[in-house]
Amino acid sequence: MAEPRILILGGTGEARALARLLDDAGIDVVTSLAGRVANPRLPVGPVRIGGFGGRAGLADWIGANAITAVVDATHPFAARITPNAVAAADAAGVPYLRLARPAWSPSADDVWLRVPDIASAATELERRGGRVFLTTGRQDVSAFADVDAWFLIRVVDEPDGPLPARHQLLRSRGPYDLDGELALLREHRIDVLVTKNSGGDMTVAKLHAARALGIPVIVVDRPAEPAGITRVTSPQAAFDAVTG
Ligand code: NAP
Repeated sequence: MAEPRILILGGTGEARALARLLDDAGIDVVTSLAGRVANPRLPVGPVRIGGFGGRAGLADWIGANAITAVVDATHPFAARITPNAVAAADAAGVPYLRLARPAWSPSADDVWLRVPDIASAATELERRGGRVFLTTGRQDVSAFADVDAWFLIRVVDEPDGPLPARHQLLRSRGPYDLDGELALLREHRIDVLVTKNSGGDMTVAKLHAARALGIPVIVVDRPAEPAGITRVTSPQAAFDAVTG
């Protein structure tokens, strides 16, 4: 049987943790990044950067690089790569596993308004106005460009599309803590927080801070993923699945 050689579709902390687990166990692993962030946090082991050219390109790459299994550890909101990877792994005849952290869920003290997509979040803000803390990420900022509200926009890299007329950009990268998030919400007199339901610990403090201050949160639900795929929620579970 071929030696295991795992392709991790990455760009998340879970992907880096899994690369570390596999590398530590002496298993051949290569991580793929889309190349969206200027200075990405890199995993251990070999890394390739850039799109594959769709499903067929990814299937070819899997074959050409003797990949024996694909772990899709991309972000829950990376909606195109996941169906591509499912189809490509199938076409290449290798197993596919989805590693995605659990979604956040509201507690009794949270004031959440759940919306199905970014456009609906923008529509809701248009109705409310006020002072918005926007944390949906660089790629989604332009959806809010025409909204008549004031925005504190927190991003890792500067957005390249149009921006709302009234805004302040805050360049930073998590993890964030409760004290820092409370201070930010107070300093900017934020009325409403907007977030994707990304899940995980790195950025959850904003939700705790909003809860403590009674600030409502517009939460964009995760996009649907292909039915019938095998899913795990932790790097260790993914490691166990591909090595078991
Ligand atoms: P996307 O819409 O699902 O993917 C768009 C295209 O980018 C894919 O069709 C693929 O190009 C390429 N691509 C995506 N992930 C790739 C990977 N890991 N390796 C190689 N190519 C990849 O994804 P996105 O929302 O633009 O996100 C891009 C990356 O950023 C993902 O890897 C994701 O894990 C990370 N990320 C995304 C978010 C988010 O909110 N969307 C947040 C944090 C991190 P081809 O079709 O040419 O193969």
